Amino acid sequence: MEDGIGVGSRRSRRQRSLRLEAAWATHMGRVREVNQDDSGITDEVFVVADGMGGHRGGEVASAVAVETMLESFVGPDRTSLVRAVRDANRAVLERAAGDTDLTGMGTTLCALAIVDGPGGQGGDEVLAVANIGDSRVYRYDIDGLVQVTDDHSLVADLVRAGELTEEEAKVHPQRNILTRALGIEADPIIDSWELQPARNDRYLLCSDGLFNELDDGRIVELVDAGSVAEAANSLVSEAVAAGGHDNVTVLVVEVVDGPERSSGSRLPIGRARPERSRGHVQDLNPGDETGMMFRTVMASIAVLLAAFVLVAGVWARQGWFIGSDDGDVAIFRGRPVGILWFDPIFVEGGDLRVSLLDDSTRAAVEQTIDVGTLDEARHYIERFRADVNDR
Ligand code: MN
Repeated sequence: MEDGIGVGSRRSRRQRSLRLEAAWATHMGRVREVNQDDSGITDEVFVVADGMGGHRGGEVASAVAVETMLESFVGPDRTSLVRAVRDANRAVLERAAGDTDLTGMGTTLCALAIVDGPGGQGGDEVLAVANIGDSRVYRYDIDGLVQVTDDHSLVADLVRAGELTEEEAKVHPQRNILTRALGIEADPIIDSWELQPARNDRYLLCSDGLFNELDDGRIVELVDAGSVAEAANSLVSEAVAAGGHDNVTVLVVEVVDGPERSSGSRLPIGRARPERSRGHVQDLNPGDETGMMFRTVMASIAVLLAAFVLVAGVWARQGWFIGSDDGDVAIFRGRPVGILWFDPIFVEGGDLRVSLLDDSTRAAVEQTIDVGTLDEARHYIERFRADVNDR
């Protein structure tokens, strides 16, 4: 992508329930000699990619991925966004195969799109998010900033396993090692979400050059300051001023017209749906999702991973979540996708059908809702039941 700070904005022309406004900015930073990040905007889809690979590799990978996403995404739903990410993966692989200078190139990619809601057929529109790698999507609303995506990196795995703190991860020498990226394997696991939009919410898509320089507190202050163009511009300028060790790219999207947020409660963000092209992935085995490009590096830290497997068994059983058990709202112990061979355990449920819930709650339950305790889970379900009875 071109040097320097560029700002462009786009107002969605789609004359339906949702209207978004977006702006992007990018900078090479103060250390790198080329900007391997890329971003793209159409009326309905917004993309950020962070390329890697020697020669021109990284630059080409992110550009090919973004271009393919913009062309390929035609809607109408979350699945079609994931399909566009797969098209981008194929395009990067094909481009690399045709040029030895580009061998081994890869890229992260995160995307946000307007799609039809769970009802489909032009029902209420929602936002779909897709992610692979360590670029991030955040939501900023009246309750603050929340990271929607999970990073697919070694340090993020270790943080999730309780092996590293967030602070340790930020300065970890191996923080650049990705566990997933585009351009590495034929059928990568892509995470995706469906989110309920609310007027005035802002979404931030960014490469790691942003959050490795600025802490969450500063990001919050800047993401909400002025227009989306001003926010994008100042986030990038500050990340460069704070060190600029990496390329930095930011895309800020605001819901300028859409549903009012209902009744003060925060809209839940479900767990990711990790999928390969054949469907939902139940067992995320780190060995499967590791591309060839990273294999040798991963082998050298096998000891670390062994420690991760040991703690994963404990960790996998620790959480609670609400999900669907054969069409019933149910409480589970563990993590929705299971960690390695540790599958979630059904705890209770069976007296409330998922089909009775309103659209947004049903979508959240189907994606699963993380909760801290069993009591909290029961409290949620009581509220769902009360809502059903009120209608
Ligand atoms: Mn980067």
